[in-house]
Amino acid sequence: MHIMLYDAHTHLHEFLDSRIAEFVREIMIAAVSDDYPSSRRTIDLSNNYENIVPCVGIHPWNVDKVGLDELRQVEKLLSEAKCIGEVGLDRRFVPQTFNRQVEFFQTFVSWARDYDLPLNIHAPDAWRDVLEMVRRADVDRVLFHWYTGPLNLIQELRDYGYYISINAAIKIQEKSKAVAKEAPLDMILLESDGPYEYRGITLEPPMVKDAARIIAEIKGISVEDLWDVVSSNFSRLFNL
Ligand SMILES: [Zn+2]
Repeated sequence: MHIMLYDAHTHLHEFLDSRIAEFVREIMIAAVSDDYPSSRRTIDLSNNYENIVPCVGIHPWNVDKVGLDELRQVEKLLSEAKCIGEVGLDRRFVPQTFNRQVEFFQTFVSWARDYDLPLNIHAPDAWRDVLEMVRRADVDRVLFHWYTGPLNLIQELRDYGYYISINAAIKIQEKSKAVAKEAPLDMILLESDGPYEYRGITLEPPMVKDAARIIAEIKGISVEDLWDVVSSNFSRLFNL
């Protein structure tokens, strides 16, 4: 039996077209962007291939490299996008640009509300800052990608109807295993964040299969049942 798999966060624009064609045959992919050019490419990819949910945005690591005018260019793509990302706040890797990150993220949060689009969020060590901003703006579809935040924040995120994605790094990352144990199934998505090198593993969309196997085992359910739940979570988040 052929079942559709789901990757809630991948930088698809960084892959060659031949690889993309191969991935989307079996995996529905939420494709995130890092800046205006990659947002443009992500939209084009979604017009050329099935099974792509295009997300446009400016990554928090890039806010010091682009001008505010780049926001206006990205905003013009929103009518073709199904999601805003990768956007967010990062106190762990780029704390020095935090104030400018807030300025950009404020704009993305207001777009999410005004255009009724979900947010695909990056928030290392800024999980609660992000939560407060999306709550204040009353955004109701939010994904906290590669969630490795406090375990005691998970239930609160779920109470608001928010989602987390567990990265395929769960193979070797103990924190992800702890998150999988703690999080109720109805808020869980899987992701690769590909292409990305993490402690010797090359993260790419097909690795969501390994993540599914590990999480199904942790939850004590079959892999098929896990994909069933992930499929409905994915559809609710992205309004498919
Ligand atoms: Zn990413």
